[in-house]
Amino acid sequence: MTAAATSSARFLIVGPQGSGKGTQGVLVAEAFGVPQVATGDIFRANVAGGTELGKRVQAIIEAGDLVPDELTSELVRDRLSQPDAASGFLLDGYPRNRGQVADLDDFLAARGEQLDAVLELEVPRDESISRLRHRAIEQGRTDDTEEVIANRLAIYERETAPILDLYRPRGLVVRIDGVGSLDEVTSRIFEALASRGLVPRHPGAAA
Ligand code: AMP
Repeated sequence: MTAAATSSARFLIVGPQGSGKGTQGVLVAEAFGVPQVATGDIFRANVAGGTELGKRVQAIIEAGDLVPDELTSELVRDRLSQPDAASGFLLDGYPRNRGQVADLDDFLAARGEQLDAVLELEVPRDESISRLRHRAIEQGRTDDTEEVIANRLAIYERETAPILDLYRPRGLVVRIDGVGSLDEVTSRIFEALASRGLVPRHPGAAA
């Protein structure tokens, strides 16, 4: 195998709901041998499992609003402190606003770590909405109703998209055209990462 595999892989994937970031994020995480940490999935698992956390966040999630930063950032800090995230992670759905960016900055700085890339998956609004409508039919998610979709996209545009302006001056943002087949978008992501010297470890190679 080649010697130039990336030794740390700390990634964020940012994009509107329905941009395919969940699916692409899993592929990137697998290739780099790091856990994919999707806050939405963690919250939904807690709701389904009827945990204390689940009970606290259920109504918020069903309305498509944001769970308070304090709760969300603590959840993420706990998850990123697990041993499997020591050399990297792919965060999907976090940070989602400026406060969460500051929380993540503090957490990483205290550990002497930094992000390697922020993947920005660009998909036009109409395309996101039509993909979310499709998903509503296929998966029956309670937060994929028309009204809640509109709320979640509005929050994305108002609070989440602006976080890219915080990461852009740091030279971290890798913009990816998210329109196309799954494979096409995946190839664009890996090409863009490789052009920044971010090359996956060979599957099965020692970490
Ligand atoms: P997602 O699957 O990423 O769209 O997340 C589903 C829901 O979980 C969101 O609509 C929010 O209610 C909640 N959620 C997920 N991630 C966050 C976050 N970083 N901050 C606040 N709420 C979140």
